[in-house]
Amino acid sequence: MKQFTLSILMLFAFVISFAQPPQQAAPGQEAMSGQPSALTELQNLWDSLSPRQKNTFLTEIKHIMEPEVTIIQPGTNNSDPPSDAIVLFDGTDINKEWEEAERGFGAEPSVKPVVTWIIKDGAMESTQGSGSIKTKRSFEDFQLHIEWKTPLVATGEGQGRGNSGVTIQGIYEVQILDSYNNRTYRNGQAGAVYMQYAPLVNASRKPGEWQTYDIFYTAPRFKDSTTYFTPPRITVIHNGVLIQNNVSIQGPTVSPGIPQYIITEHGPGPISLQQHGNPVAFRNIWIREL
Ligand code: MG
Repeated sequence: MKQFTLSILMLFAFVISFAQPPQQAAPGQEAMSGQPSALTELQNLWDSLSPRQKNTFLTEIKHIMEPEVTIIQPGTNNSDPPSDAIVLFDGTDINKEWEEAERGFGAEPSVKPVVTWIIKDGAMESTQGSGSIKTKRSFEDFQLHIEWKTPLVATGEGQGRGNSGVTIQGIYEVQILDSYNNRTYRNGQAGAVYMQYAPLVNASRKPGEWQTYDIFYTAPRFKDSTTYFTPPRITVIHNGVLIQNNVSIQGPTVSPGIPQYIITEHGPGPISLQQHGNPVAFRNIWIREL
């Protein structure tokens, strides 16, 4: 309102300064009459503006120069990490950013090196008897890029074929599965927010081909110890295709069960990669904290 009043005053001052005093008639001439005054002309001009044009004139949102938007260096390819990313796996040392996840409820948190996964052709891969792994770092809001591949020789069916998962903050799983010619329940196939949202489409590549997830995640904010103030929200792009469009996660992944019943206030958490008894390979993993 203050800005609006100021704008009106400025407009008025402009009109006064622009307005010309009535011309005196020279001897032998008649005074000019019927000429619209500057004020009237300005009023007519103002009235001729569209609401959008008037808004442009009155708004206090103008061009903002400072502070300059942070400059970063994007990757050569869109799948390459930009300069402000944390590289979680570059094809070499798995133990730099990852550790084995504790197994079972009540397990004592401890730093356990990853010894049951192998590195092969620049990718890390779970083996028979591997456990899940998780990042040493914890995250809240982020953009994550991860590439994964299920075995070329597809064995098993349904949930038993290429099953893994990206588990966010340790409790919200985006399903990884070989969903190429492999029907299963729709809210459990590749790209599902497991048991909560089926992907919008099935954009799966064939087994043995590299696939990508680009995940955009906003962590929950809590009203109290068991209630979200704002729930976690997630967008997932699978192989360049939007499959989860800013959906609202209902609670921690649970199967079976009602996610809302097991909400517990939490802070930042790790990214974990699920070992579900199926060998799945991962490469080129990077994250940007938002
Ligand atoms: Mg899974």
